[in-house]
Amino acid sequence: MGETLIPRLIVHGGAGDWTGFDEDTVLRGVHDAAEAGAAILRAGGSALDAVEAATRILEDHPLFDAGYGSYMNEWGEVEMDAIIADGEHTRFGAVAGVRRVRHAITLARGVLERTDHCFFVGEGADHLATKLGMPIIANVELVSDGELADFRQRHNPDSKPSAHGTGTVGACAYDATGRVAAATSTGGTHDKPKGRVGDSPLFGSGGYADPAGAASATGVGENIMRYFLCKRAVDACGVGLDAATAARSAVTYLNAQIPDPEAGLILISADGRVGAAHTTQAMPIAWLTADGQIHTAMRCTADMQFE
Ligand code: ASP
Repeated sequence: MGETLIPRLIVHGGAGDWTGFDEDTVLRGVHDAAEAGAAILRAGGSALDAVEAATRILEDHPLFDAGYGSYMNEWGEVEMDAIIADGEHTRFGAVAGVRRVRHAITLARGVLERTDHCFFVGEGADHLATKLGMPIIANVELVSDGELADFRQRHNPDSKPSAHGTGTVGACAYDATGRVAAATSTGGTHDKPKGRVGDSPLFGSGGYADPAGAASATGVGENIMRYFLCKRAVDACGVGLDAATAARSAVTYLNAQIPDPEAGLILISADGRVGAAHTTQAMPIAWLTADGQIHTAMRCTADMQFE
């Protein structure tokens, strides 16, 4: 039997403004997601199980832009994208433009483990959910009261656009056998054109994992996908940077290419170290430290360590 390692995990609730939100509620949301993932890891479960469980909690939470509570597109529909990535074998499952399931991350996991393919989109992805026996729901069941109110406000010329910015969710984990995994799930950007897909389901951009580490990104997908943000961060771990420095270096690089790219990421390296960085005003995170505690923060500082 191999050595038992100390598991680690980090989750994010989206890079953005987060002005006007109750921080305690937001941090409780990411905390509960981290706790769900940590419980699996403490019981000897896999990194893949942990990131899926943590992401499902955030998909169920109305405050986050994933699953229930996703932003609506310009047609007033929810279209979700998700990826789950397994570092041990450098493989992933992804879905985009999904409309009929509550947990896009679980459908992505189904793609990874129950098909011979990597990526399903639109109607075909929803059809796959049926074939895999997942519950099929009406699209409107994904619309939270808060998003419906915001959507109406955004489309009422007499009212100011909403100052609220919620984001994509994601998780990275390192399990007791040293395997890493990453998950990302999103409703995308608000009022996006129908059919628009961001970085979130793209392997290397919105989520990535290989033997060197695992990463999940958030922010403006059109910026993130041009520079493979997650792969860039994991590659930095692969050449010896610690995870906190690697996360900062990837985000700093993106910032140098695109002014104000509105992006962030979380990262776990192959040695189980954790990192996170963002260019936005906030990015709520929760992480499991080596002593088994869960910590939360609304934003990352330049010298933040995650031990
Ligand atoms: N990255 C997501 C997208 O572009 C949005 C977000 O992270 O807030 O669809």
